[in-house]
Amino acid sequence: MNKEELRNAWEQFTDNNDFRINPDKKHVDLIIKGVLENEKRHGLKLCPCQVRDGTRQRDLELICPCNFKIQETWKSKGMCWCGLFVKR
Ligand code: SF4
Repeated sequence: MNKEELRNAWEQFTDNNDFRINPDKKHVDLIIKGVLENEKRHGLKLCPCQVRDGTRQRDLELICPCNFKIQETWKSKGMCWCGLFVKR
């Protein structure tokens, strides 16, 4: 999957939802880069801003998009931990 394909997949994920992709394109580009690097390195599209602990369970929790609505940043700032998805 390349950069544009990943962006499109995330756009579709936000359709009809109460969140959208951060309008700051440069920020989103950095996250895309990190996710694709993690995919090359670890075989999974892992979050570039959360810490792995080496377990399969943790890796599964970190596949982007993660379950970001349980995160403190969602409640306090209306965004996922990395600021990829923001409340509409
Ligand atoms: S915090 Fe945001 S960028 Fe990171 S995995 Fe979750 S949804 Fe993706």
